[in-house]
Amino acid sequence: MHPQNQIMSLEQEISRRKTFGIISHPDAGKTTLTEKLLLFGGAIQEAGAVKSNKIKKGATSDFMEIERQRGISVATSVLAFDYRNKKINILDTPGHKDFAEDTFRTLTAVDSVIVVIDVAKGVEEQTIKLVEVCRMRNIPMLVFINKMDREGKDAFDLLDEVELKLNLRVTPLSWPIGIGSTFKGIYNIWEKNIQLFSNENKQKISEAIAFGNLEDPELETIIGETYAGDLRNEIELISEVYPSFSHEDYLEGHLQPVFFGSALNNFGVRELLNAFVDIAPQPQPKETDTRLVIPTDNTFTGFVFKIHANMDPKHRDRLAFIKIVSGKFERNKNYHHVRLDKNLKFSSPNAFFADKKEVVDESFAGDIVGLHDTGNFRIGDTLTEGENMSFKGIPSFSPEHFRYINNADPMKSKQLEKGIDQLMDEGVAQLFTLEMNNRKIIGTVGALQYEVIQYRLEHEYGAKATYEPISIHKACWVEVEDERSEEFQEFKRVKQRYLAYDKFKQLVFLADSSFTIQMTQEKYPSVKLHFVSEF
Ligand code: GDP
Repeated sequence: MHPQNQIMSLEQEISRRKTFGIISHPDAGKTTLTEKLLLFGGAIQEAGAVKSNKIKKGATSDFMEIERQRGISVATSVLAFDYRNKKINILDTPGHKDFAEDTFRTLTAVDSVIVVIDVAKGVEEQTIKLVEVCRMRNIPMLVFINKMDREGKDAFDLLDEVELKLNLRVTPLSWPIGIGSTFKGIYNIWEKNIQLFSNENKQKISEAIAFGNLEDPELETIIGETYAGDLRNEIELISEVYPSFSHEDYLEGHLQPVFFGSALNNFGVRELLNAFVDIAPQPQPKETDTRLVIPTDNTFTGFVFKIHANMDPKHRDRLAFIKIVSGKFERNKNYHHVRLDKNLKFSSPNAFFADKKEVVDESFAGDIVGLHDTGNFRIGDTLTEGENMSFKGIPSFSPEHFRYINNADPMKSKQLEKGIDQLMDEGVAQLFTLEMNNRKIIGTVGALQYEVIQYRLEHEYGAKATYEPISIHKACWVEVEDERSEEFQEFKRVKQRYLAYDKFKQLVFLADSSFTIQMTQEKYPSVKLHFVSEF
């Protein structure tokens, strides 16, 4: 092939990819929306094909629920389909708060997100946290207000709430006509048409009625006098109070278009998908410690954002999920594992489709490949074609819970060590090793993870562990300007019992209260404390 043709096809392949995540508070309709998107893509044939990855209410202390979740989340980790000649990759983001860390890491691998909000419940807790992470990184976001077939909040009030609580700058690209029992349909501001909602024949998607000029008296005929009047007034108000859509602002993360609909009734989903395909970004450049990597670079680079242990304890292999940042990933080609300074090749890389995963010969920037791994990978690892550099931006957040972990079977200390090591590589929890006596402390986001760790250590590694309480409020990563300064030396002396190292040998101060953190900051102003491992 002529080299220029090769470059062309690489660029074309990459520019048709759109990799995104759907974020929401549990129950807002993420699974339902995902499924409807897949139906439009022709990737699945019937409803019910996508398994909910949700932990049922009241089951949060149920250990089996976690195992079930692990199984499903392998199956729904990445769902890919083609739509209007674009390749859409949906990355799964668990909504449950005990898995928030997983979701944060997955968000490092997406190029945009769709935020789903329940019209009746409005902005909820998990949405606030996840949107904040996206906002900090300027990830482009679309908002989908779901469940319009139910009674809910007034659309203007809800948008106020979204702006206030999520700190977003919104602009509606579609607008509801009525709500709940009086819900008539949607005016699509983006495509300038009206879509009528039919309560009887929910699954049938009616053709949109083109409507460029709302002054047209035909509007009365279609939706009735009252609704026509209201709609005209509301659309006028919208044009006055909300900024008009700017593609650039959206791509820079400074403006968030809003759509209304009902995922369950397949209503407003096509509009969302069409707009998404039109405006959502293609794979984006990413920073490393040495340079910015451009997706269309000829050489392959990628990083691990997720690791899944095999559900079958007899097979210790794991699946490492790699986001391809640049170039093309090829089967059986040698790649450089930067952290280990080691070359590896992969004979059966998995690519993901809506209903299956398959071994593929090549994948492109924007795609996710799943690599079988026997313990080489850890979250955040970089693969290249030889270049020595590492991708930035998979931070750890301070855990919420902390416990000492002890070995309950002295004969199995090697197994325990290996098990802890590998589970931490997978990102199940965080390990802190106390500086003064090397005791190990496990930090987690949810209390549930302790059960999981204990169970998996025993069943996968043959090791027995027990926990011991320890009173820690937050892990603070320590940043110092001058390690030899008097102040830092004193800080280390005084706080000796509370200093530990994380997995990357970064110094961490384990503070027992927010008061301690405040006092420490005041006493040692040159020692900076961070709640995130990257600063
Ligand atoms: P997730 O936790 O965000 O994945 O939420 P699900 O997609 O599992 O939806 C939670 C519940 O809301 C389910 O019972 C859905 O059937 C229901 N649901 C989803 N979308 C709609 C909608 O548009 N209207 C109504 N009335 N219910 C919906």
